[in-house]
Amino acid sequence: HRGTKTALITGSTSGIGLGIATALAAAGHDVVLNGFGETAAIEQLRAELSQLHGVNVRYSGADLSDPVATEAMMEEAIGACGAIDILVNNAGIQHVAPVDEFPVEKWNAIIAINLSAAFHTTRLALPGMKARGWGRVLNVASAHALVASPFKSAYVAAKHGIAGFTKSVALEVATQGITANALCPGYVWTPLVEKQIPDTARARGLTEQQVIDDVLLHAQPTKQFVTIEQVAAFAAFLCSNAGASITGAVMPIDGGWTAQ
Ligand code: NAD
Repeated sequence: HRGTKTALITGSTSGIGLGIATALAAAGHDVVLNGFGETAAIEQLRAELSQLHGVNVRYSGADLSDPVATEAMMEEAIGACGAIDILVNNAGIQHVAPVDEFPVEKWNAIIAINLSAAFHTTRLALPGMKARGWGRVLNVASAHALVASPFKSAYVAAKHGIAGFTKSVALEVATQGITANALCPGYVWTPLVEKQIPDTARARGLTEQQVIDDVLLHAQPTKQFVTIEQVAAFAAFLCSNAGASITGAVMPIDGGWTAQ
């Protein structure tokens, strides 16, 4: 049994990407997973997603900081599926440090994974979308594509960058049945957020609980974390035919954070 369309979601072995992959499989699409993790756990995830939703689920372990590996992943997926109809650029990393102490290799890795990888996957996916006259490019940006926080210079630069990239792509393909949008989640409870709490505590001289209450949830008027399921449901809507007129949009899902 084959799904109706093929979706490739980068960084989908965990967190938001896995949530979006699950929602797109549930919508009946074949899925290509990507990301790091333990081989057996990823294979179990792949098989479960496929069985549960009756769609083909493939996996690529490509390291998206490497353009050559990214290109190989795209060629393999397009070879197997004919085209990537839905591209979700979600893989991302964070590093928290003052700009004058920011490790150069962390800056380079964040720009490569959070920004340049989306350029490479998009440039390689668009010809197939254009040939089919239908496509969805969805970039998982961040509230940090719209506003900044201290100690996250590389992340904020990459996320503002991907917001601009999204708009350019949207304009280029607007007449061809292809949309490009950016989602801007506020704080979602995932391993990415959990892992930055100790560093933020150190950088700001706070306890870890103070970071959760006074830094993370301080930014969000709802005083609640956004959930993976909420982001995934919105992503699935944008990737459906109902989302056809939404393009070039950079959309917050942030509990009111960027309204302030
Ligand atoms: P996560 O750490 O749970 O998942 C990140 C995924 O990316 C994992 O599957 C990981 O294996 C993969 N990945 C990391 N480096 C990679 C690389 N070099 N090549 C391929 N895959 C790689 O993180 P998350 O919180 O789910 O974040 C997903 C996206 O959402 C990121 O772009 C992040 O910036 C964004 N985001 C997260 C939040 C949040 O609060 N969690 C808020 C706004 C935006």
